[in-house]
Amino acid sequence: MAAFFYCKSGILGNPNNPMPQYWDNVENQHITTTLNSTPTQTKHSITCIFFVPCSAKLNLMKEKKDWNPLTPDEERIIVRKGTEYPFTGQYNKWDEQGIFVCRRCEAPLYKSSDKFDSGCGWPSFDDEIPGSVKRIPDPDGRRVEIVCANCDGHLGHVFNGEHFTPKDTRHCVNSLSILFKKA
Ligand SMILES: [Zn+2]
Repeated sequence: MAAFFYCKSGILGNPNNPMPQYWDNVENQHITTTLNSTPTQTKHSITCIFFVPCSAKLNLMKEKKDWNPLTPDEERIIVRKGTEYPFTGQYNKWDEQGIFVCRRCEAPLYKSSDKFDSGCGWPSFDDEIPGSVKRIPDPDGRRVEIVCANCDGHLGHVFNGEHFTPKDTRHCVNSLSILFKKA
């Protein structure tokens, strides 16, 4: 059985930047992986684990050839960087415990524990799973776009300085860009 975990000690000697880890219970080893590198296997003790967002297959993140097919609505958001109407998205009001993955490539992006109700009409998160989201300033310099770091699919925009939560960050994400996976 394999599951998706975080390693408390992190990798590359950086305890403040734990990366997603896969743990193979049978082999008693975990497979450390960053979004842009080939997985490597390392022996680790079970005590290094502090978070279990979901049970998952080892190939949680999909290669381009296996990306999920998109509906025309999803394509308008994810590929052509559209925005769904506020208060219409499936996950705007959603408080189940689990993780949100990219709708196209299923890379883990957000934990439900970082979701909060901003009242803005779109799912809001004050943090991302480390390394999972890329920030791209809009050409007009007014907003910062966020995309899936694995497949570059459009997610929405990120805002700072609104003081919604202590982290003072709001990832404003289209429901059509993400998929919920129960913990
Ligand atoms: Zn993706």
